[in-house]
Amino acid sequence: MKITDAQVFVGGPGKNYVTLKIMTDQGVYGLGDATLNNRETLPAAYLTDYLIPNLIGMDPRNSEDIWQFFYRGAYFRRGPIAMAAFGAIDMALWDIKGKLANMPLYQLFGGKSREGAMVYAHATGADLEDLMDSVAHFVEQGYKAVRVQCGIPGMPSASYAVPETKGASTEYMTDFSGVRPKVETWDTGTYMRYMPGALAEIRARFGPDLHILHDVHHRLLPREAAEFAKSVESVGLFWLEDPTPAEDQEALRLLRAHSTVPVAIGEVFNSIWECNKLIENELIDFIRVAATYAGGITHVKRIIDLAGLHHVRTGFHGAPSHSPICMAAHAHLNAWAPNFGIQEYLVLGTPACDALFPSDHRMENGMVYVSDAPGLGVDFDETEAKRYTYSPGSHPVVRLQDGTIWNY
Ligand SMILES: [Mg+2]
Repeated sequence: MKITDAQVFVGGPGKNYVTLKIMTDQGVYGLGDATLNNRETLPAAYLTDYLIPNLIGMDPRNSEDIWQFFYRGAYFRRGPIAMAAFGAIDMALWDIKGKLANMPLYQLFGGKSREGAMVYAHATGADLEDLMDSVAHFVEQGYKAVRVQCGIPGMPSASYAVPETKGASTEYMTDFSGVRPKVETWDTGTYMRYMPGALAEIRARFGPDLHILHDVHHRLLPREAAEFAKSVESVGLFWLEDPTPAEDQEALRLLRAHSTVPVAIGEVFNSIWECNKLIENELIDFIRVAATYAGGITHVKRIIDLAGLHHVRTGFHGAPSHSPICMAAHAHLNAWAPNFGIQEYLVLGTPACDALFPSDHRMENGMVYVSDAPGLGVDFDETEAKRYTYSPGSHPVVRLQDGTIWNY
């Protein structure tokens, strides 16, 4: 069996999804997601210029050897661009493998460990009252878990993932449009004084059963993160996300020494080599990698297995920048993983997105139910894809009040 061709498509409704389609001499094809948010043309070029010419003629069933060929063969290893490109190939090869076996991928991993996989929604508000309305909306929809972010009185501009005006908080997405990034202003002291009380009010309003998550988005120093974690202990958070900058695998030691708040990190990690110490030293409770830019299913499975040895559960990244192909890979991993925790889930199920990526993975009452179709269980409509073109964007940048650049 041989790979005969592979094509890359960039575009989608409101997002520049990077979709890889690998064709074979037996008519079976596979799909992969190489979307690297706001840098989408780079994994697309990596695939087209370097990887696809090598892929032609390979046996698609040898997904492990192909992964090692590209990873070790690159010499300059890892990084988000390369790992997103390898990840897309790997997803597509698993998709082919599942179709050849006539089995959904979770069966090839070891079968289902659960029926539905719990997800969390993004609740947000221009202020706390607005956030409460947003949380209530998702609770009414049946969600058992919500991430909560709100505007902070006295903060010079909107905080992370927060709308500037009230009322549109159930479907809010950060504006990434344009090459020149939006500039946000951050003040750690204002945040540290306000947010613990706001989280306590959310707990008081919604009771003990709701899983409450909060994302600090890498903005605190290790000592500040330890102080913040201590101050929110009584809230009973499901997790505190990215309390410190993700590059520093030692940064969470101080937090760990002073608090039992569960910690989640890893959405920007590209490989096991960025989280192995965090996992082995049991400094985290949830690992947040994504199949897209952590090297695909083959590499993420290795991370899941290492995490399982150290009581670390999964909480895969699920920002809307991941296409439904990556989310399908996650759905299969989530159905299987013995150490599954939770899945981040933003509403992708718009008619336009469903038309581009038809599938029967379904979300119901805050749980995702995996498709039983062979392979990934998601398709790609090339006629629909012709409606979309690439549009460049940027993540916001953050400055302190004196102008110093800070972590977005
Ligand atoms: Mg996050």
